[in-house]
Amino acid sequence: MPQTTPKKYSKGLMWFRRDLRLADNAALFHALKNCHHVVCVFVFDTDILDSLPKFDRRVVFIHESLTDLNRQLAATHPGDPPALLTLHGPSNPSVAKLAQTLGAQAVFANRDDEPQAVLRDAQTLGDLAHAGIMLHTFKDQCVFERSEVLTQAERPFGVFTPYKNAWLKKLEPYYLQAYNTMAVANALMPASQLPDAAQAHARITPLAEMGFDWMDLPAQHITPGTTGARVLLQDFVERIGKYKDTRDFPAVKGPSYLSVHLRFGTVSIREVARLAFAQHASGDIGASTWLSELIWRDFYMQVLHHHPRVVDHAFKPEYDAIKWESGAHAKSMFKAWCDGQTGYPLVDAAMHQINQTGYMHNRLRMVVASFLTKDLGLDWRWGEAYFAQHLIDFDLSANNGGWQWASSSGCDAQPYFRIFNPITQSEKFDSQGKFIRRYLPQLADLSDKAIHAPWLANPIELLSAGVQLGETYPMPIVDHAQARATTLARYAVVKKS
Ligand SMILES: Cc1cc2nc3c(=O)[nH]c(=O)nc-3n(C[C@H](O)[C@H](O)[C@H](O)COP(=O)(O)OP(=O)(O)OC[C@H]3O[C@@H](n4cnc5c(N)ncnc54)[C@H](O)[C@@H]3O)c2cc1C
Repeated sequence: MPQTTPKKYSKGLMWFRRDLRLADNAALFHALKNCHHVVCVFVFDTDILDSLPKFDRRVVFIHESLTDLNRQLAATHPGDPPALLTLHGPSNPSVAKLAQTLGAQAVFANRDDEPQAVLRDAQTLGDLAHAGIMLHTFKDQCVFERSEVLTQAERPFGVFTPYKNAWLKKLEPYYLQAYNTMAVANALMPASQLPDAAQAHARITPLAEMGFDWMDLPAQHITPGTTGARVLLQDFVERIGKYKDTRDFPAVKGPSYLSVHLRFGTVSIREVARLAFAQHASGDIGASTWLSELIWRDFYMQVLHHHPRVVDHAFKPEYDAIKWESGAHAKSMFKAWCDGQTGYPLVDAAMHQINQTGYMHNRLRMVVASFLTKDLGLDWRWGEAYFAQHLIDFDLSANNGGWQWASSSGCDAQPYFRIFNPITQSEKFDSQGKFIRRYLPQLADLSDKAIHAPWLANPIELLSAGVQLGETYPMPIVDHAQARATTLARYAVVKKS
């Protein structure tokens, strides 16, 4: 007779957060394996939601992904289906209260190392402990977390390349194995067996009830849920070999566009890393480059874990001495940047991309971040906060890492004297102006040469293209050469310290 490990608990609660999938979910697998009956819950946490505008793509993405998850849950037992419970309120004490209502002995969740989440989980742990309920957490959102990859001196890495080498050295098939949740799915508790007090939560709280507007995400080319992630992944698998050559050109379909799915866990990091690693091991340079990006993701997560002060401070403390521009002029420069009105077409087209779609191509994130900090002399935290508000894939660790990289204050950042020229970046990465034309149709009739810097164009060309500088398109708000000199002077405090 095959031996089965006895289950530890009669009832468990699976708390979904940024892991909105059934398949290959670490916490869910352990819940199902260790409990006779498992109830699933997601909290629309008012501590987070209350600060968001009523029109927020991320909330809609989560909502649609939960609907998708609920369908998958129901499909595991069509006769007597389990349901996803949702709560609308602060996670503390809602989760502990629900666990008590259900009579659960343990709550299972995947770890989240963002400082606010760490605090939330510590409070929940306390509430649960008070009620005699266990909280079990698991690694799920990255391949290696926290202190799993350290230097030989057992210190966290501060430079990417040695981190990446150590990451690759540590990697064994074990770390990328999928958790077979389906094999233990019979422990999912049917909704019909929920206690009466929990029945009301067995539905996905409608957006309107929470004060949010619905929007048609697929119409904006955003495909929520694991179903959406699968479509993107299948499409990318066909192109991964070309990733290295195509990833830097915003008008080309080069990257995977999976960031929002990795953010909310509608795709498993183990699955995508397994796929990338297999092709990397067979010598595919495109896959190796993509795998590196996934390793950057782990890298920035461990930076945030070991150095949570980066949320407000420069990773390199001497960079906090930099005097950024301030006052009314700085604010008006910032507004022009946010609105895509700087007069530099690639920067403006990129800002229109984030404003219209909630996504921005990686090359452009670097260009606009460099422009904000090194052309406009504005504090990287202003740009970081704007991205945090507008990016559908906003992830504190990657966003903070990206901004500190661009402003040179981060760990393994670009040197401060490396200042992107927004015109040459445009000529190199959008040479035919295809991306610019997509987001700035008022410049569409300029030649491929003139489109990168319209103010340098021949007045006759501007006239025939219907471009009136200062009217249909702004004059540049700064002179790049002058700004460069000012920035080098501004960053001199770093050299002195
Ligand atoms: C200023 C700035 C801000 C950024 N903010 C975010 C953010 O909030 N959320 C976010 O996910 N990424 C952020 N990035 C990293 C990167 O730009 C995006 O991950 C990428 O553009 C997402 O598109 P993709 O999924 O098509 O990426 P792909 O090129 O297909 O890359 C695959 C995955 O690798 C990860 N990845 C790629 N590049 C990085 C990187 N530099 N750092 C960490 N992870 C990376 C992402 O999860 C991405 O989905 C930022 C970069 C910069 C320069």
